[in-house]
Amino acid sequence: MNMLFERKLAIPMEVKEMYPLTGDLSRVVEQRAAQLKAIFAGKSDKFLLVIGPCSADNESSVMEYVTRLRGLADKVQDKLFIVPRVYTNKPRTTGDGYKGMLHQPNPDEKPDMFKGIVAIRELHMRVLRETGMAAADEMLYPENHKYLDDMLGYVAVGARSVEDQQHRLTASGIEVPVGMKNPTSGDFQVMLNAIQAAQHQHTFIYRGWEARSQGNPYAHAILRGSTNKHGQSIPNYHYEDLVLINELYLSRGLQNPAVLVDVNHANSNKQFIEQIRIAKEVMHSRRYNPDISRLVKGLMIESYLVDGAQKVGGGVYGQSITDPCLGWEKTERLVLELAEGL
Ligand code: PEP
Ligand code: MN
Repeated sequence: MNMLFERKLAIPMEVKEMYPLTGDLSRVVEQRAAQLKAIFAGKSDKFLLVIGPCSADNESSVMEYVTRLRGLADKVQDKLFIVPRVYTNKPRTTGDGYKGMLHQPNPDEKPDMFKGIVAIRELHMRVLRETGMAAADEMLYPENHKYLDDMLGYVAVGARSVEDQQHRLTASGIEVPVGMKNPTSGDFQVMLNAIQAAQHQHTFIYRGWEARSQGNPYAHAILRGSTNKHGQSIPNYHYEDLVLINELYLSRGLQNPAVLVDVNHANSNKQFIEQIRIAKEVMHSRRYNPDISRLVKGLMIESYLVDGAQKVGGGVYGQSITDPCLGWEKTERLVLELAEGL
């Protein structure tokens, strides 16, 4: 191979021994997972928000964000169940650029994978300890999932990964709800195939083991819009899209049918401010049609301390270095308005 094997890394079990999760924190993860599963099973009618920065690029600004989010979550807890986005590994459209805290604990420095593994474990642990909320992360690299699996409250499979067999099979062995995004092409069937695969049991090779997954009955859909051959964004949050996904979803006979609408990415064409309008439109569609209300169980929102985005090294504390995000004040107003409208 034309590749240097620099050093052997500690396996997840060893890293968990070095940075163990205490018993009280694992009970928090269990309780949060149970509350979330109740939403997906239709036993709780709380509305889910998976909300936070596009990338968790900096421990202190992420902690400040999730601490504010905890305060906000308390105010709306009768209506909303809030899961913070703490995304520690980022897919890049061309593969280049900042790949997340896993690769670069410090975005301005060279990649250091061991430091990265420790940094993301410590960050998720702090979020859990200081807010009592188990966070969401993207499963970009299925083989790395076990470095964090005892701490996550929610897992997403991204638009660029959802057609991949190893992602689907690994998702089938995950305990918490896994959201399958529509692919960048927008094909709903690809996303539904991924959900079907994740809901079933599989035997496959995972980290050098013959592994048997139990199937994940809480695998569900995330609509994030798509891109056509001219590179234009095609939204999929409109009423007609939701009616269509409801029909296609129900015709499959999948368990716990559920959709989250990601209001950024190709739905907003990364015009972060549009997330406010899109969120409100989705809520209107839910109020108008009981089938959509039943199916659409939450939103995914990209939000951080400061509006917009900057280049890596830009120096603005709490502003995204990946996709543009809604700043805190707008986020707070939007979350309160969403709760009021429910
Ligand atoms: C994201 O959630 O930041 C992301 C990269 O999403 P997608 O896979 O939909 O592009
Ligand atoms: Mn993003």
